[in-house]
Amino acid sequence: MAFASTRGGACAHASQTILQGLAPNGGLFVPDEFPGVSLEDIGAMAQMDYPARAAMVLQKYLDDFTPEEIACAVQAAYRPDKFDDPAVAPVKPVAPGTFMLELFHGPTLAFKDMALQLLPHLMTLSARKNGETREVNILVATSGDTGKAALEGFKDVPGTSCTVFYPTDGVSDVQKLQMTTTGGSNTKVIALRGNFDDAQTGVKALFASADFAAQANRQGKVLSSANSINFGRLVPQIVYYFSAYADLAASGAIALGDKVNFVVPTGNFGNILAAEYARRMGLPVNRLICASNRNRVLTDFFSTGEYVSDRPFYKTTSPSMDILISSNLERLLFEAANRQGETVAQWMNLLKKEGRFSVTEDQLKQMLTIFCAGSADDAQCAEEIRTRYTMDGCVMDPHTAVASRVLREYRAATGDDTPAVIVSTASPYKFAADVLCALKGEAPASPDAFDCAEELQRMTGLAIPPQVSELRSLPVSHTAVCEKDGMASAALG
Ligand SMILES: *Cc1c(COP(=O)(O)O)cnc(C)c1O
Repeated sequence: MAFASTRGGACAHASQTILQGLAPNGGLFVPDEFPGVSLEDIGAMAQMDYPARAAMVLQKYLDDFTPEEIACAVQAAYRPDKFDDPAVAPVKPVAPGTFMLELFHGPTLAFKDMALQLLPHLMTLSARKNGETREVNILVATSGDTGKAALEGFKDVPGTSCTVFYPTDGVSDVQKLQMTTTGGSNTKVIALRGNFDDAQTGVKALFASADFAAQANRQGKVLSSANSINFGRLVPQIVYYFSAYADLAASGAIALGDKVNFVVPTGNFGNILAAEYARRMGLPVNRLICASNRNRVLTDFFSTGEYVSDRPFYKTTSPSMDILISSNLERLLFEAANRQGETVAQWMNLLKKEGRFSVTEDQLKQMLTIFCAGSADDAQCAEEIRTRYTMDGCVMDPHTAVASRVLREYRAATGDDTPAVIVSTASPYKFAADVLCALKGEAPASPDAFDCAEELQRMTGLAIPPQVSELRSLPVSHTAVCEKDGMASAALG
């Protein structure tokens, strides 16, 4: 399988795309075609464990990896001591016709683990295949969850190191502590004064800088990315859409071949794009519902065809979706533009220079045959946390609650009663203070994250994950802070 750049040109094998992260012209790597998965294949998946399901999907894209390499990688990534649910990504009924795909059973309690437990294995294999002997230095910009998941994945992996930039005030207390207490001899965590878009733009600029690459090279390092711009992040995310569907069909909740809707809490558009890739491969999907918080840049894009990043940025209770530049939308735009790289390059230039661009009416119409979008602000999100807990006994984190709310509104507006899967992206204990506040309808007595977690446990009976309680006693080992123009020296200094 060959990969091209969304901005035209480039031709790479899977292992090269994983190693490089971003295409040389600043575009994102996309597969030349979408390999097919038949209904029969999907039916057969129901009998497989999660690593075998992952191997089946991965092999279709990563054809310069041997089946043995892939089998080893998926077994190491999805080990029972890493994921606290034997199904890895269980799908659970919450109400008639509504299901929850739980993607937070990994070591850092967010869906990023689904890809980032696997990526280090794919990365070291890719380095070896391409004769790369330098240390692979993973540069990450995080809105909260990717950082810890990348650190946890790459920690002490020989031949790699991991440097994370997080926005100083843009992450929850638990998210911040998770990152700053990370051990490992090859990890670096830096607080950037700015928001997530500053971090992401800064990291993209480092990737594009020849000077920075040369400086890294002098230190015996080559740069790569663990953000969802890396195709190696995307392909493991395709797996759980097939996995969820296979489980639903096997349980009799749907018949094999029936279409389902997925509603995905969206920031950088990586998770929902994986669903679209699964659909293009043959997964029976009716609608992909893109759920945003108050930073509703995608909702507006899908309703007008104009993408406007030049707008106020809001901090919300779902920080991992506080994003105005959704990088992976570029991969959908590439398909909407009939794979014309020049068109995408023009849009991206406009976005950079003017903070906006527009697609044509036809292009928008084509996207809207599958995609639709909605948003929920913090108050609506809190109301949804309370409603779903009262009605269904389900405790949701704020990101998941945004999706749940958007689904409720979608159903009310359209009458579409297709079975729907809410993609649940984080454990409520990553955001205990906000969840507790939503459930009680008032600010908790103590704002301390651990006090809130304990009260939430008392109230709901849902056990606090050990990854959260242990943070209380772990020493903080990363305290570096940098300005927007100091990222290069902070990374390599
Ligand atoms: C990263 C993240 C999201 C957004 O996912 P994208 O792939 O960036 O759209 C949503 N919820 C949580 C909890 C996340 O960590």
